Amino acid sequence: MDLKITKYSRQRDIILRILRSTKCHPTADWIYEKVKKEIPNISLGTVYRNLNFLADKGKIRRFSFGGTTAQFDGDLRDHYHIRCDWCKRIEDVPHISTRISCQEIESLTGYRIHSLNLFFSGICPECQRKGEQ
Ligand SMILES: [Zn+2]
Ligand SMILES: [Zn+2]
Repeated sequence: MDLKITKYSRQRDIILRILRSTKCHPTADWIYEKVKKEIPNISLGTVYRNLNFLADKGKIRRFSFGGTTAQFDGDLRDHYHIRCDWCKRIEDVPHISTRISCQEIESLTGYRIHSLNLFFSGICPECQRKGEQ
């Protein structure tokens, strides 16, 4: 067995597990801090490469907004997101009654839809409180 492949897939397994265990849609730096506890000699660059690899393979979601640091989500189920314009946190929207129909979009555009990324944005309750002080 190729030792290199084993090493890389172990890194990816750990990164995936960490990402799936949180709901905070973290940055690579956040994940790097956690991975370091299990693989002390791993570099931030390696964590980035693994995250981008997993995102390109469709195993995780990657969010990036013009010029900001990418954030990642290990939850691939259909769900919508909301992002705070101030602190940049990304949260899941619990549920909304209006669901967008991919079939409808497909028939309107002729595309075969692979994924849906709907983002709401605004100011989170915590930042609203800080803004009032
Ligand atoms: Zn906020
Ligand atoms: Zn999410």
